[in-house]
Amino acid sequence: MSGYWRNWINGEWVDGGAGWLAVGNPATDEPVYEHACADAGDVAGAVASALSCHERGLLVRMRPIERGRLVQAMGNWIAEHADSIADTLTHEQGKPLWEARNEVAGACRYFEYYGNQAALIEGRSIPLGADYLDYTTLEPYGVSAQIIPWNFPLEVAARSIAAGLATGNACVVKTSELTPCSSSCFAKAAEAVGLPKGALHVLTGSGPAAGAALASHPDVNQIVFTGSVATGQSIAAAAARTVVPCVLELGGKSAAIVHDDADLEAFETDVRRGIFVNAGQICSALSRVVAHESVYDELVERMAAVARSLAVGPGIEFSEAGPNMGPMISARQRDRAVDMVAEAEREGVDVVTGGRRPDLPGHFMEPTVLSEVKPEMRVAQDEIFGPVVSLLRFRDEAEAVRIANGTRYGLVAGVFTMDLDKAVRATRALRAGQVFVNEWFAGGVETPFGGYGKSGYGREKGREALMNYVQTKNVAIRIRQR
Ligand code: ADP
Repeated sequence: MSGYWRNWINGEWVDGGAGWLAVGNPATDEPVYEHACADAGDVAGAVASALSCHERGLLVRMRPIERGRLVQAMGNWIAEHADSIADTLTHEQGKPLWEARNEVAGACRYFEYYGNQAALIEGRSIPLGADYLDYTTLEPYGVSAQIIPWNFPLEVAARSIAAGLATGNACVVKTSELTPCSSSCFAKAAEAVGLPKGALHVLTGSGPAAGAALASHPDVNQIVFTGSVATGQSIAAAAARTVVPCVLELGGKSAAIVHDDADLEAFETDVRRGIFVNAGQICSALSRVVAHESVYDELVERMAAVARSLAVGPGIEFSEAGPNMGPMISARQRDRAVDMVAEAEREGVDVVTGGRRPDLPGHFMEPTVLSEVKPEMRVAQDEIFGPVVSLLRFRDEAEAVRIANGTRYGLVAGVFTMDLDKAVRATRALRAGQVFVNEWFAGGVETPFGGYGKSGYGREKGREALMNYVQTKNVAIRIRQR
């Protein structure tokens, strides 16, 4: 056990009303940290402090360029402490150390990007003739509640904290109870750069207790959530009762269409990054490959070779980017993924490689490639959230698009071809919030991200996300003529 971590509420490091919780190391299945566990009372204290910060105008009255500077300074502080933050992230989340370092760098980019945008949030003037002066202002909602998952705890929190603060909202962040410790970097950064008291609160607690208390609090003005469909539905129901807007990012079952003229060698990199990074626990994972029948067999072999090339072990041992993969977050998630593969095998799916738990103490699963998957099967319909990729076969473009679009989700999609016309036709036909052409995960903090269908609504990242945090006020002024 290496340390006890506190919640950050009202500018202070505090213990939890619900005591503390043990944070496990997914690579060893042993407890590694203890963290204060917030209850509804702690949440109420954080919301009251955030509301007071907002009502006193501590962020709102600041000149935006100065508020943006504070946001950027937070990112700089995090970058300066990247090594120890990444180490904590790997210990509590499991991902390879090099991935954890990438995640810290990714989190910093959100502070850089949204810090830069703080001064660019402008209204417009609307001509109404000589008798009126009319203009709009974009005002922060006030208290922004942000409920964070465990798969990318830093990047997901950073994108809402940076955008929320840049627009002048006081933010209450509920981190995942599985990965709360690395997120203390946001509070430490706020403290170090002198963010006004009450502008940011970072706490953890159980979802049904602290999370639900935050989502249903009457003084919360806006909610951002990333996580499962079921939890998203309960948060949206709470938001409906308090009549506040929410942004939901709920996962996916995303497909890459691979045509017969695609660069199959380059696609191997997409497979490695798309489904085996973070042990596949990525909402926008490349979880289905819809391959043209003429390249299907070759693709099966190439993808299996990628899977077999990965060293599987504790993330702390993988400091270099390479063919390696850490554990999954929990035994529950791993067992669910293993069970889904076993069920698919009983239905006739070919488990080309992987599918089982390796003989290691933590929550590991072998990198897995499934072939002969049929579109209606559970492995092709439900999010596995593990290192499992399914191959499906198509004959013509229409069938490829039908298969790719044939789930309840619509987060991202991809098309791989050298034929521009085919690529553009696919980008138009695919129902997804982001479409990649010839590179999975193309894009970055600048590009809007969010789902169609059950993948949720609203957009994170990019300039679009800023609109989640502001409401429009129209000012109409009657001008008397002399
Ligand atoms: P998973 O099932 O993969 O753990 P969840 O969607 O349940 O994902 O969790 C994402 C975040 O939502 C976590 O911070 C969790 O604590 C929180 N959460 C879980 N249940 C609720 C709830 N009923 N109300 C609010 N937040 C919740």
